[in-house]
Amino acid sequence: MRRPATPPVVVVGAGVAGLSVALSAAPREVILLDPGGIGSSRLAQGGIAAALAAGDSVRAHVADTLQAGAFHNDAAIAWSVIGAAPDAVAWLQVMGVGFDRDGQGLQLGREGGHGVHRIVHAGGDRTGECVVAALQARLARAAHVHRRTGASVQSLLMRGRNVAGVEVRGDDGRIEVIEAGAVVLATGGLGALFERSTNAETTSGSGLALAMAAGAHTRDLEFVQFHPTALDADGPRLPLITEALRGAGARLRDHRGRRLMRGRHPLGDLAPRDVVSRRVWEAGRDGPVWIDATGLTPGWERAFPTVAGTCRAHGVDPRTQPIPVTAAAHFHMGGIATDALGRTSVPNLFAVGEVACNGLHGANRLASNSLLEGVVCGRWLGAHLRLAPARVSHEDAFRTVALGEGLGASALATVRRTLWHAAGPVRTKLALASAIREIRAMAASGWQARVAQAVLEAALQRPASLGAHWRVDA
Ligand SMILES: Cc1cc2nc3c(=O)[nH]c(=O)nc-3n(C[C@H](O)[C@H](O)[C@H](O)COP(=O)(O)OP(=O)(O)OC[C@H]3O[C@@H](n4cnc5c(N)ncnc54)[C@H](O)[C@@H]3O)c2cc1C
Repeated sequence: MRRPATPPVVVVGAGVAGLSVALSAAPREVILLDPGGIGSSRLAQGGIAAALAAGDSVRAHVADTLQAGAFHNDAAIAWSVIGAAPDAVAWLQVMGVGFDRDGQGLQLGREGGHGVHRIVHAGGDRTGECVVAALQARLARAAHVHRRTGASVQSLLMRGRNVAGVEVRGDDGRIEVIEAGAVVLATGGLGALFERSTNAETTSGSGLALAMAAGAHTRDLEFVQFHPTALDADGPRLPLITEALRGAGARLRDHRGRRLMRGRHPLGDLAPRDVVSRRVWEAGRDGPVWIDATGLTPGWERAFPTVAGTCRAHGVDPRTQPIPVTAAAHFHMGGIATDALGRTSVPNLFAVGEVACNGLHGANRLASNSLLEGVVCGRWLGAHLRLAPARVSHEDAFRTVALGEGLGASALATVRRTLWHAAGPVRTKLALASAIREIRAMAASGWQARVAQAVLEAALQRPASLGAHWRVDA
């Protein structure tokens, strides 16, 4: 067992949130656990929202955030996170992120739900990759951080009610116990628990499951954002066709070539994601749905290298052919309940980024507000841990709260299918109740089923539609 004189902070997860915490906690010792693989941060395409344009304001950005969130947001959190956005962009530049520029300065894109152009991006549509690479490069030079690759958390170590460390499984299967003064869950969302998802397979709610096992309060679990334009392909992770493509003028069309969003919302193709996703889901019942970029200015694909490459890899030339799309689970607004500093209801346990719910996103996230949340709240939490190290009580004996076994492949496929059909973009009481009965029977066999059950139960308990939670029987 590792027993340092001053217990370090253990940060679980190396996406944008975990990296921001780790970098900002200096000089406090940090052990950063990075199992490897792809989290959502590296997949992010569109960018980071910040009120930087002349004529834009924090007020306008907050207004768009609350509108998209169906006013279910914590307005005070929204004001503080969004108020910190310009500074977060400046910090990322200091960290080495080279955002794309034009003649006027930082180039600003526009996405659904935003009233103006306010999305900074890097490498065209490779924003997440560029941000993670820059933060990782900084981390490699940070003496206070020990990065442990191939390590995933299996259990939380508790002393009485306090979290006191983690049990980690390495690549080689060895289990190691690490004592810590604070444990930060930065493990990302749960999109991969849905059959159709833009998330990597590992983004399946393990941090949420651990926190639930430790008795942490959760919040808003029913609110899952579905992205309207994932590439309609086979495979566990559907590549994203970024909303920024619609921002650049691409249009959604139904199987007859008609404009899908015409007359449906004042913002048309750039309406909030829940509105567009439901439309794509509905239209998908009659035939394929397409996003048509063939009318864009020739050469557009240079600004969207990921989209262009993905399409070609699936046999579509987006310059001349419409791109087949489907709705897919994309982002979890709900999660472990926290305050602005990432404090959970369990002492010494913190959560930040997509696994956490501090109320910023309300019932539906405004596009490009989540990398922002990871950076802003990650920096706040890092500074908090630096200034106010958590106290450790040595009076109680250790006990462990374990994640437990995961489901086998066939049971996991059942959970994913059930969650997609019952708790997808369109929900009914009947489907939710029957899914709960099915999943409850599997809950003892794997933590994924327990997380799925919690999402279904939260969805059943909210009889009226709100934001991304759409009860067609309400
Ligand atoms: C395709 C796609 C495009 C997106 N585009 C944008 C965008 O343009 N702008 C925007 O703002 N948002 C975007 N999002 C959402 C955004 O990327 C995520 O919300 C955000 O990156 C989450 O960051 P995170 O650090 O909380 O989690 P992640 O980046 O998912 O990182 C989680 C980390 O935790 C690790 N982990 C998980 N479980 C364990 C465990 N048990 N033990 C140890 N480690 C564990 C993972 O390996 C990973 O390192 C997009 C999401 C997707 C999927």
